[in-house]
Amino acid sequence: MSDCLFCRIIAGEIPSAKVYEDDLVFAFRDIAPQAPTHILVVPKAHIPDCSGITRENSAVVSRIFTVIPEIARAEGLETGYRVVSNCGPDAGQTVKHLHFHILGGKQLALEMA
Ligand code: 5GP
Ligand code: ZN
Repeated sequence: MSDCLFCRIIAGEIPSAKVYEDDLVFAFRDIAPQAPTHILVVPKAHIPDCSGITRENSAVVSRIFTVIPEIARAEGLETGYRVVSNCGPDAGQTVKHLHFHILGGKQLALEMA
């Protein structure tokens, strides 16, 4: 059994509110939403963070950014949304499995740092 939280969610060992799944990608609602819509989009393969993306494994990132607008449309985020990936401690990353937050459903604050 993996000790990675998101690997366990992908495997169904920990329940989640799934919004999308294909052969490479899994997406589910954040347990502590910071906006009316807050979804996490993750590769099924364990990549720790953005710094773990390589020429060999980056096809999944292309797939993730293909799926993100599909999810946004399905969620009715036609007036906009934000995509965020925290990489490492200075960015406040808390789960060491690459993930992209989709945040929307309200006017988001503009601060970037
Ligand atoms: P990070 O802070 O690493 O960028 O984002 C991790 C996110 O995972 C946080 O927004 C947090 O609320 C979410 N999260 C942590 N544990 C769980 C969980 O067990 N289930 C779900 N659905 N989200 C989680
Ligand atoms: Zn993992």
